[in-house]
Amino acid sequence: MTVHSWKALYIPLEDDEGEFVVIVEQWKQPSETEAGLIRLDSEPTIHHGDPSLPFCGGLTRFVKVSETKSFLFCERCGLKISFSSSVETLGELKEHLLNV
Ligand SMILES: [Zn+2]
Repeated sequence: MTVHSWKALYIPLEDDEGEFVVIVEQWKQPSETEAGLIRLDSEPTIHHGDPSLPFCGGLTRFVKVSETKSFLFCERCGLKISFSSSVETLGELKEHLLNV
């Protein structure tokens, strides 16, 4: 069997910063619920620009700085988004960013 890459989740960002697209490599496309349970440090995420802006497409890195603070950092454009270390899954991150 072949492992496919799926765009599993789109997480919109504030202030015209585009969105994070989460790519997972699995046998089949995960449902949004399944994707939401994936841990932040286990799958690559891509910073995807708004279509009207220059395309970024940079890989983002998840960094846990301390027991209370984590961030996602785009290797190409330098976008950095901080959030609480209690956020550990993609679903929690999406909820957190939508409620800020
Ligand atoms: Zn970027």
